[in-house]
Amino acid sequence: MILGIDIDGVCAEFADSCNFWLAERLDMDPQPIDRWDWYENYGSEGPRAWREFWRMTEADPDWMGLVPPVPGAAEGVHALEDAGHEVIYVTARNPRYQEATWEWLEGEGFVPKHLIHTKDKHLVECDLYLDDSVGNIDSLRENDCNAVLFIREWNEGTWWSRMLRGVDYIPSVRSWDQFVWFVGSMEALAHAR
Ligand SMILES: [Mg+2]
Repeated sequence: MILGIDIDGVCAEFADSCNFWLAERLDMDPQPIDRWDWYENYGSEGPRAWREFWRMTEADPDWMGLVPPVPGAAEGVHALEDAGHEVIYVTARNPRYQEATWEWLEGEGFVPKHLIHTKDKHLVECDLYLDDSVGNIDSLRENDCNAVLFIREWNEGTWWSRMLRGVDYIPSVRSWDQFVWFVGSMEALAHAR
């Protein structure tokens, strides 16, 4: 299968690093990352500091190279590639971060082969996508793509509220080990048909 793998929140612990930057900037304790717009947990100063953060990374794209990886991500990618799958990194990061992102992937041992910067992820044509944005999952599924949500602190509330209201079931995993298992099961199902 061709797997479309998101970077921030899936391979890179972007929100954590960004949260520390905002806390330092605002001289406050780091706030919980418990919703998609978590920077609003800093109150009225949050959105301003968030914009400042992006101006800072625009001037210094190499900042992206300092973000730690999500535990098990590189190992998961290798397990999937060893099982014969092809991994395409599909990120909504602005293309200005492409060089820093590629170098980060290499430096963290992902051994990347394909990296695409786009907000229209469905156009990349993968058999299955892994993403931590419910918005991206919705838009992928609206375009008839198979997509799995990587459950993190910032999307779990949305995921649960959809489940509990019975509005929607979003296929999801909570770790890279689970995603590797999920891909294996999906393939086994396809072969059994
Ligand atoms: Mg993401």
